[in-house]
Amino acid sequence: MLETDVLVAGAGPAGLLLAAELALAGVRTTVVERHPARPPYCRGFNLNARSLDLLARRGLAEGLVAEGHRVPHAPVTGLPGPLLLADAATDHPFSLGIPQTRVEEVLEGWAADLGVEILRGHELRSFTQSPESVSSVVHNGQFGRTITARFLVGCDGGRSTVRKQAGIGFPGVDARWYALLGDVECELPYGVSAGPDGRTLFVIPRPGYVRIVVREDDPPADKYAPVTLERLQAQVDAVLGRHVELRSPRWLTRFGDAARLASRYREGRVLLAGDAAHIHPPAGAIGVNVALDDAFNLGWKLAATVLGTAPSGLLDTYHAERHAAGERILANTRAQVAVAECSSEPWADLLRRVAAHPAGNRALAEIITGLDACYEPGGHPWSGRLAPDVPLVVGGRETRLAALLHPGRPVLVDLTGAFAAWSAAVEVVAAEAPSTSDVGAVLLRPDGHVAWVTSGSDEEGLAEAVHRWVGDVPVPAPA
Ligand SMILES: Cc1cc2nc3c(=O)[nH]c(=O)nc-3n(C[C@H](O)[C@H](O)[C@H](O)COP(=O)(O)OP(=O)(O)OC[C@H]3O[C@@H](n4cnc5c(N)ncnc54)[C@H](O)[C@@H]3O)c2cc1C
Repeated sequence: MLETDVLVAGAGPAGLLLAAELALAGVRTTVVERHPARPPYCRGFNLNARSLDLLARRGLAEGLVAEGHRVPHAPVTGLPGPLLLADAATDHPFSLGIPQTRVEEVLEGWAADLGVEILRGHELRSFTQSPESVSSVVHNGQFGRTITARFLVGCDGGRSTVRKQAGIGFPGVDARWYALLGDVECELPYGVSAGPDGRTLFVIPRPGYVRIVVREDDPPADKYAPVTLERLQAQVDAVLGRHVELRSPRWLTRFGDAARLASRYREGRVLLAGDAAHIHPPAGAIGVNVALDDAFNLGWKLAATVLGTAPSGLLDTYHAERHAAGERILANTRAQVAVAECSSEPWADLLRRVAAHPAGNRALAEIITGLDACYEPGGHPWSGRLAPDVPLVVGGRETRLAALLHPGRPVLVDLTGAFAAWSAAVEVVAAEAPSTSDVGAVLLRPDGHVAWVTSGSDEEGLAEAVHRWVGDVPVPAPA
């Protein structure tokens, strides 16, 4: 029997970032992960601009950027040219080539430093929830134990046990096609290789090996059936119309273009994040990034709920904001696949022309990476968006806006000195912003999104935003 505040199922990107965010806020957090160790293969190989912007709000982006490889555009499927990030609304106008396994390692280290208990080799099998708690049965292969928590979060991937046992629907569309993926060694050139009948396969360079991706002609009835080297070899040979030997398989799997979205992200004391809440076609290399985005949105809201400081309804804004984001991800990824498959359709040509136009190119880059995220549009260009990481001077010292968010708390950045009286309600940082002229003060949520911003005073709007996002705290009487 173990007691904790939040039990997180799954130590992928979503589970690890969520656990760290909870611990940063002082919430006792336990992660259970069914695998005894991180798998030897690596699924994703990138962090996009949006993820880097978010991780920078906790001081985690700089180290990753230093060891990764910068590419000045966003990954996209179906368009002939790149989506350039140079003019996009981001502090990191590039995609970062870095293995998903390395990102997980960094997040796990951060979570452990913050005191998160990570139980590897422990599978969550079932749970029951009451009005006060959730009791989960967890097995380590030899024996089971019960972990009782105030909340359970399923970050347990696309086949989520938590989602199924919570009775949360997963509507969407089944895969229409499957592709085989093999991390192998072979003599094929990097890029697209075409066979005599025009069919193609992709060869992606990886450190010491290549990743082959090829559509599967006759997927088995059981899509989870293991992929063998023989099967991949036969498919590669069939597409190329000749034999090219594949050697030293490191990882063999299959994936399809199914798209499904959890009907709700919360069921009482149980929540979902990452692939557990959404699966989508593999377009735009977005999965890790959306998982991080979900976790970053949920962490501070769940922490405030557990700590008893959350305003009424705060936790439900997680579903409102991220379910809508999930709908957009499904639409965006399915659209990319449709453009790739229907390249001769007039609308696909129109989209290619939009992408070739500088303004259209920038808009698509922001949409596909999620940089366009705006949870609540308002009258100011910053309203509802991630506040840009502008340079600030605080107490005579140079800093940046993102650094104010490292502790993970809401901050009122006061650029006029008119808001000092608000310090009883929220942390106020008096600052100068040499490069910013149209902001007098801005209330930042812990995830860096703007809850309220003014170029004048608007204390009534600030009171409303504080009560909505910070808590039921006393606010100064209107002047
Ligand atoms: C071939 C491939 C290539 C990809 N390439 C990219 C890419 O380039 N860029 C990108 O952004 N995304 C990519 N993705 C997608 C990305 O890997 C996923 O979207 C991402 O890992 C989702 O993170 P998550 O934390 O939600 O889930 P996961 O990473 O799947 O983590 C879930 C964890 O939960 C554990 N678990 C499951 N059930 C239980 C249980 N009952 N109890 C305890 N633990 C459990 C699992 O073992 C796993 O560790 C790729 C995916 C694949 C398959």
